[in-house]
Amino acid sequence: MPDAPPRYKRVLLKVSGEALMGDQSFGIDTGVLDRTAEDIAEVVKSGVELCLVIGGGNIFRGVSLAGRGMERAQADYMGMLATVMNALAMQGALEKIGVYTRVQSAIPMEAVCEPYIRRRALRHLEKGRVVIFAAGVGAPFFTTDTGAALRSAEMGCDALFKGTSVDGVYTADPKKDPAAERYETLSYQEVLAKDLRVMDASATSMMRDNQIPIVVFSIRERGNFLKVLNGEGVYTTIA
Ligand code: UDP
Repeated sequence: MPDAPPRYKRVLLKVSGEALMGDQSFGIDTGVLDRTAEDIAEVVKSGVELCLVIGGGNIFRGVSLAGRGMERAQADYMGMLATVMNALAMQGALEKIGVYTRVQSAIPMEAVCEPYIRRRALRHLEKGRVVIFAAGVGAPFFTTDTGAALRSAEMGCDALFKGTSVDGVYTADPKKDPAAERYETLSYQEVLAKDLRVMDASATSMMRDNQIPIVVFSIRERGNFLKVLNGEGVYTTIA
């Protein structure tokens, strides 16, 4: 248990599908999955109500399949199904370590998980369950970033935490450019105007319209989620 009380009552964590891949080129690295689940458990045990959105890029991404000749909408539905697989994987990893969860899919799949029902999701959160929102917004031509933005607004989240492979937003790609500098804070407008691609533009403008801050941090180091949630460590805030 941390000494300082959490600064947020309810947050949404967005993790890309690629973050679950580890060093593999496809699919789920169960070691990374379990480590991420431990980080999430730590935050839930600190008393924060947690919503979770996991992408599907480790399995299928609509745009890349469309680039190889598949119809875009068809490919996007495959991408949405990939996010359901990741959601189920994370549900399993969390329940194994004693965290209560519910998966709600924007595409109803009654033998697999609950359909997305806003009021039911709110009730789960109040009861301390992690709600994993799968299938994005349930429509093609969107991303799970937009799904995360939409759900964070619907659930009344205090912030959206975007867990990535880097510890914030930089002036350039820090893996390629050693002179790249990290922003401490940014406005939504700067992100859009500079085309910083923290989230896609529709997700960023939805966050702006609903005045929900975005916190970009590294999900790679064990324990970092709770640390950043408590205002410690390294991250970029967009507000
Ligand atoms: N997708 C979609 N509608 C949504 C959310 C996702 O069509 O509301 C599809 C889209 O093809 C996308 C894929 O699902 O490429 C996986 O989601 P995303 O690319 O956001 O995953 P991430 O990059 O976070 O791993």
